[in-house]
Amino acid sequence: MRVGLLGLQGAFLDHLPHLSRCGVGTTIVRTAEALEEIDRLIIPGGESTVMAKFLDEFAMTSPLTRRIEAGMPVWGICAGSILLADRVDGRPGHLRVLPASVTRNAYGRQIASLEFPIDVPILGIKDYNAIFIRSPRFERVDESVQVYAYRDTDPVFLRHNNIMATTFHPELNEDDLFHRYFLSL
Ligand code: GLN
Repeated sequence: MRVGLLGLQGAFLDHLPHLSRCGVGTTIVRTAEALEEIDRLIIPGGESTVMAKFLDEFAMTSPLTRRIEAGMPVWGICAGSILLADRVDGRPGHLRVLPASVTRNAYGRQIASLEFPIDVPILGIKDYNAIFIRSPRFERVDESVQVYAYRDTDPVFLRHNNIMATTFHPELNEDDLFHRYFLSL
């Protein structure tokens, strides 16, 4: 299995140790051609506006949308989850493959990260130390979307068929629980 890491901008390198411990091959994806070589894709945290601009400039938006719609598993983290959403800040989103509306920087523009304990029953974990960095908030999720974890009442871990989204950064934790779950999709 070859896992793609979208490497246009943002925190993609932090995923490498996790993927290597999981024993999968990794490709840093920066072109539409590279998108053809992978079996699944991680869209990392970073700045969603910048990543959206690069996806357009490198003619990757349509091929990526097509592959996700054809069933390729994808995991969007923070900015990545924003790129997947069908509505962002009241406007149409970029890839629009996740039927959910998101507000950017919804918890304030804190520079320091904010840690928050969450329960994730599907992974069998309680009080997972979820790290939020200028994270978005999902305000509406379609009923076809499964919500696997909440921060208070806000959905922070979503799944819609082959699409997974977390508004926090599991790559900053030592464990590989979320990476292993993504590889099982
Ligand atoms: N605030 C960023 C955005 O709107 C997301 C931050 C992150 O990915 N950690 O794109």
